[in-house]
Amino acid sequence: MEIILEKSECIGCGSCVALCPKFFEMDEEGKAHLKGSEFDTKTEEETLEISKTECAEEAVEICPVQCIKIKK
Ligand code: SF4
Repeated sequence: MEIILEKSECIGCGSCVALCPKFFEMDEEGKAHLKGSEFDTKTEEETLEISKTECAEEAVEICPVQCIKIKK
């Protein structure tokens, strides 16, 4: 499965980083970044392959603009 972050929608609130530092950190532009992810310049999405959702489920729920998705 994978975590998908719609980078263009992120407002940089930092909630996902606070709840789920295993997968998320803030980048130099003040937006969320999925650690070790690939960035698709066309869709402006970051994608990270994961084997367990762990704290990512909480990040999905907390994000105020719903720009984090988990694809199973
Ligand atoms: S919770 Fe959502 S809006 Fe806030 S930093 Fe994370 S991805 Fe961006």
